[in-house]
Amino acid sequence: MPDADLIIVGAGPAGMAAAATAAAGGGRVLLLDEQPRAGGQIYRNVGAGGDARPWLGKDYAAGRPLVAALQAPGITAEFGATVWRIEAGPRVVWSRDGESHVCAARHVLLAGGAQERPVPFPGWTLPGVMPAGAPQILMKTSGLLPRDAVLAGSGPLLYLIAAQMIDAGAAPQALVETQGPAMMLRATRHLPRALMAAGTLAKGLGLIRKIKAAGVARHTGAAGFRAEVAGDGDIAFSFTAGGRAHRLVTPLLLTHQGVVPSTHVSRAAGAAHEWNEAQQAFQPKRDAWGATDVPGIHVAGDGAGIGGAEAAQAAGRLAACDILHRLGRLDEASRDRKAAPDRAALRRAMAIRPFLDAAYAPLPEFLAPEGDTIVCRCEEITAADIRASVDEGANGPRQVKTATRAGMGPCQGRMCDLTVRGILAACGTRPATPRARTPIKPVKLGELAALASHQET
Ligand SMILES: Cc1cc2nc3c(=O)[nH]c(=O)nc-3n(C[C@H](O)[C@H](O)[C@H](O)COP(=O)(O)OP(=O)(O)OC[C@H]3O[C@@H](n4cnc5c(N)ncnc54)[C@H](O)[C@@H]3O)c2cc1C
Repeated sequence: MPDADLIIVGAGPAGMAAAATAAAGGGRVLLLDEQPRAGGQIYRNVGAGGDARPWLGKDYAAGRPLVAALQAPGITAEFGATVWRIEAGPRVVWSRDGESHVCAARHVLLAGGAQERPVPFPGWTLPGVMPAGAPQILMKTSGLLPRDAVLAGSGPLLYLIAAQMIDAGAAPQALVETQGPAMMLRATRHLPRALMAAGTLAKGLGLIRKIKAAGVARHTGAAGFRAEVAGDGDIAFSFTAGGRAHRLVTPLLLTHQGVVPSTHVSRAAGAAHEWNEAQQAFQPKRDAWGATDVPGIHVAGDGAGIGGAEAAQAAGRLAACDILHRLGRLDEASRDRKAAPDRAALRRAMAIRPFLDAAYAPLPEFLAPEGDTIVCRCEEITAADIRASVDEGANGPRQVKTATRAGMGPCQGRMCDLTVRGILAACGTRPATPRARTPIKPVKLGELAALASHQET
């Protein structure tokens, strides 16, 4: 007998909503997350220490009922549980405290969420330069506040983090935005549809008003990022904006160019993926319920395509309804009826995406950097190394990997897959989806050996 009817990988909004729906429908759910608590990115630590930080905002506190709902009978939640392999069956292999476990289920839902897009430019690997999401994680988990930081890049999350910093009394010294009037103009054709999500638009405008009111210096249409050591542990950040060169000195340069689906688990599971041109990212192919082409495996939430927390919850519930139907616990008509409100909510939440994708598109200089900018941080492979391998005949991610070792370090390509793809595309090739191999997260040899001998007995 399988260990569960449904194993869910990821306890963010998608995974939590799916777990509650599946358990309410009579399913036995095993929920796995590598973090110490439920919540995912947006609701990280909510219901625990995060509640003592009102500056994280109302949207953050809204995650509390989702976390509380995991107490339902039928849900077993394991935290600190890192999934590193999905096998046919389906079976899920996960690790905690140096010990690996294999669990079988009739269905698996991958709800692993998003990661920040890598933002490579000269100096991006210096200490003191990091993705904007990193200090936000510290703000949520330990209340640690960045001081005198510069936020640089684009995207709604950059505004949100700036606003949270302002409310926490740690306003950034400047906001350097890569989007300019031309991008906004291009995005306006998507505005009528975006009005379906008028509440989200209004929230975004509210964040911008807060940043303006706080007197944070703003530069728009910025490009040509470069970071250098300025002495005393500071970073000298140079860029151009408004036809002028600028230089800011800061202890902390926080960069951001939007988020992209985390697809290592779904790729390693063998699911077919496609390129999303508007979001400049890979995403798993799935049907309207989140089912992939691998039997027994669904995907939901930002890991299936960026949509935000409300879309993630709706997609999680839709996948759970379909899984309950496949388990024989919900007939087709009941599944469709139960799903109708979530399908409408998903449509509403996704209506704003084309506008956001166009308004906050990543700059080409980050998608396909040049020269000695490091692309693969683990192996210290530069853009020039990758371009040289293309000149020598590499025309896909596998050949680049073989020629340069880009993507072979401990992060397994998480920080360079997209940039390698961008350089390949800029060089005129049509790059395939890179393969992801297990273990997708580092596992010790002793742990593998113990697992193998356990399986033999
Ligand atoms: C750094 C960062 C910060 C963000 N902050 C905000 C914010 O403050 N507000 C906002 O509106 N949106 C934020 N977002 C966007 C946010 O990710 C989505 O809107 C929403 O959280 C997506 O929900 P989800 O359930 O799809 O994924 P997530 O919320 O990302 O949840 C995915 C969960 O899967 C787990 N997981 C992933 N891989 C594995 C594995 N191999 N094994 C075990 N567990 C795994 C993760 O630990 C995580 O808890 C942020 C995104 C990022 C990348």
